[in-house]
Amino acid sequence: MLSLTTVLLGSGLILRANAFVLPFRSPTSCCSLLNAEFNGDPEPKVFSNTPLQATEYESLSTYWTPAARLNPTCIFTPTNTQDVARAVKLFTRKNCQFAIRSGGHSYNPGWAGITDGVLISLYGLNTISYDPIHGLASIGAGNRWTDVYGALLEHNVTVLGGRNSDLGVGGYLTGGGISYYSNDRGWATDNIFSVEIVLADGKVITASRHEHKELFRCIKGGSNNYGVITKFVLETVDASKPFNAFAIGFPATSNNDFISHAYEYCTNGSDADPKSHIIFAASISKVDGFANGILGSYSDVFDAANPAPVLRPFFDGTVPGNAPGFLSANGTIKVATDLLSIVQAPGTRYAMGTFSVYADIQLFHTLRGIWEEETTEELKDKPGFMTEFAFQPIGEKWLAASAAKGGNSFGITSPLVMVWLQPRWDSALDDAMMVEYTDRVRVRCEQAAKAAGKFARFRHLNYGGRNQRNEIIPSFGAANVLRMQLNKLHYDPLNVFGRLVPGGFKIPGF
Ligand SMILES: Cc1cc2nc3c(=O)[nH]c(=O)nc-3n(C[C@H](O)[C@H](O)[C@H](O)COP(=O)(O)OP(=O)(O)OC[C@H]3O[C@@H](n4cnc5c(N)ncnc54)[C@H](O)[C@@H]3O)c2cc1C
Repeated sequence: MLSLTTVLLGSGLILRANAFVLPFRSPTSCCSLLNAEFNGDPEPKVFSNTPLQATEYESLSTYWTPAARLNPTCIFTPTNTQDVARAVKLFTRKNCQFAIRSGGHSYNPGWAGITDGVLISLYGLNTISYDPIHGLASIGAGNRWTDVYGALLEHNVTVLGGRNSDLGVGGYLTGGGISYYSNDRGWATDNIFSVEIVLADGKVITASRHEHKELFRCIKGGSNNYGVITKFVLETVDASKPFNAFAIGFPATSNNDFISHAYEYCTNGSDADPKSHIIFAASISKVDGFANGILGSYSDVFDAANPAPVLRPFFDGTVPGNAPGFLSANGTIKVATDLLSIVQAPGTRYAMGTFSVYADIQLFHTLRGIWEEETTEELKDKPGFMTEFAFQPIGEKWLAASAAKGGNSFGITSPLVMVWLQPRWDSALDDAMMVEYTDRVRVRCEQAAKAAGKFARFRHLNYGGRNQRNEIIPSFGAANVLRMQLNKLHYDPLNVFGRLVPGGFKIPGF
């Protein structure tokens, strides 16, 4: 198959797909056509920023971070798959640019938004049902995890979803998805049983391990490159056992112990007890200075006085720190993730950057040193400034669980540690400075990891920053990129989801 792809690429088919460039129709005309198409529907589905619709338009325009907000010409709010199919067919025929948004948690302006074009806001695709015979949950692509967790817990089951329950289903699942259950069950995207997807010509198909198998694999990491996914059918997890999540702070004086035990967990702990899950973070701000912290979970009965061995060093004073704060103590995943969504409330400006390394204690120190060095007093003085830098392991069991479910697009062959950094600040005037800072730290860290021989190619799409647009999908490796390109040619030959949907992480050549 790869040689066929090479032939297709060599023959310039990709170039031809992109060469089909009629001028885009004016966005105002696209919105008028859309209005005419849905005029007969009982409820209005197209909203513009006019005096009559300003309230609806404004409430549909909120994003988790205002740094990602753009003002589309109009916003389309489908309530079922056929609405999406009619709209996409119209956009393709009339050459209208558009954007696709599920929960709007992307950090990057234009990824789930657009200025001159139509925004499809999927929030009305909010059905949730459970099939107890097959153990599958069917989830509309506009849901947020809080509603999904709530509805499924009534059946004593849950699914792999966001650690913050306010995240949308669509972006999270198509980008990978790190879940509290990932050490045991792999990426959330690998726990998809099937998707319903609207293709560029408006055709609706189902992709799964049994139908449109290659497309199904490409969607796992394919973001918005193949179509609009309207429904996910997900494998479920027994939720009859209690779920625990906790956050613990450790002072800068614990640095060496913190890093050593982070290394130990990244290399052994997540595999030794995959019911556990830990993110190792550090933060710097003017007011609070430097602090280490973990956000962790345990998906079984938990006793803080006698925790599972892999968690013990963080609870028994081996790494000297504060008393744990519980997001859920022998409770449910919904309680834990709802609480985190309050802690990580929407409304603040953020940027993001990510890369991956192979675990190494010295490198962990070096990377954090670069981040500290680049976090200058000038930055710390900016209103609302805080910066976080985190390590998150992907172990053998995670990778094995993903592979056992048919694989994905990511091309990860051995355990690694994802690294992300995330500054936050108050003023739009500081946006450019913060993005530059994020990129500077990331690039220097990548150079240091390369120099140490510990750089890992993979970058998690869900954590990609705006200036990593051309790095994320290429980081999946040549064979995966080729598979994605071949399927792109087959399922979106006119490159509608590249040309007409300009935002997001795109497949090279499209
Ligand atoms: C506070 C916070 C916590 C986070 N925690 C986690 C975490 O625990 N684990 C993790 O893996 N990630 C996490 N992330 C990252 C998060 O997964 C991504 O931001 C993800 O894109 C959010 O999904 P969404 O539906 O809200 O995205 P949106 O912003 O709506 O969309 C993101 C991208 O996906 C595309 N897209 C969305 N829906 C569809 C669809 N139905 N069909 C086709 N394309 C679509 C959009 O066009 C866009 O390019 C977190 C982010 C934040 C801000």
